[in-house]
Amino acid sequence: MLKINNLHVSVDDGQKPILTGLSLEVPKGEVHAIMGPNGAGKSTLSYALTGRDGYEITDGTVTLDGKDLLDMEPEERAAAGVFLSFQYPLEIPGVPTMTFLKTALNAQRKARGEEEMKAPEFLKTARALAAELKMKPEMLKRPLNVGFSGGEKKRMEIFQMMMMEPSFIVMDETDSGLDVDALRIVADGVNKLRSPDRGMLIITHYQRLLDYIVPDRVHVLANGGIAASGDAEFAKKLEREGYDAYAA
Ligand code: ADP
Ligand code: MG
Ligand code: MG
Repeated sequence: MLKINNLHVSVDDGQKPILTGLSLEVPKGEVHAIMGPNGAGKSTLSYALTGRDGYEITDGTVTLDGKDLLDMEPEERAAAGVFLSFQYPLEIPGVPTMTFLKTALNAQRKARGEEEMKAPEFLKTARALAAELKMKPEMLKRPLNVGFSGGEKKRMEIFQMMMMEPSFIVMDETDSGLDVDALRIVADGVNKLRSPDRGMLIITHYQRLLDYIVPDRVHVLANGGIAASGDAEFAKKLEREGYDAYAA
């Protein structure tokens, strides 16, 4: 389970406090959604969890299955199984997607002390998954994300996420302007990734996404922390009534 306690995060060389005492628990097997007004610090939370430069933790703790995440380098967090969507948004000219992914997966397996996945098994797994996600097989041979359409990038992101065997997923869809097709791709992927030993935190502006991914809990991030929480129905109430009730 992911346990965030009293998290304080500042940006701008530590000058600007964004999160000021955020606490949240996401048990294994659950999908939690984070919603909230623009600029509340939703993306800041996802960056703090993955250890991005420039997001300074000034207080609080974050543990995944009892292990201190904040003490780890970003690569160590990835090896511990924390997957941030858009972790690999890069276009990587010249490197076929499959080569890139196999390298990333085996680096992670090595860090976890697991055996590396050999080429034949990797190919077999990747092809089966690509078929399941209705991806064109040639996408796997092309350089990562180069010239991909919006929908293809989304499929690729879900594909990477499933190939990387994450134990905890953070998805920040806030600024991606998903159309209905992309929403469906993301939602189907997330629903496939639901599993009793995996937790997920879905950050979204779009209540619509939560029509397809029915979350176990919904939280409002406002005023530097979790201002309110509820069940899936709560997201619909937020859509109707907005965030004014939680504003400073
Ligand atoms: P949200 O995702 O909820 O829209 P963000 O986490 O992106 O909010 O931003 C929260 C606040 O922090 C905003 O005022 C934003 O301008 C500021 N902020 C975020 N990242 C940085 C940064 N790297 N440098 C300076 N200010 C930042
Ligand atoms: Mg924003
Ligand atoms: Mg954001």
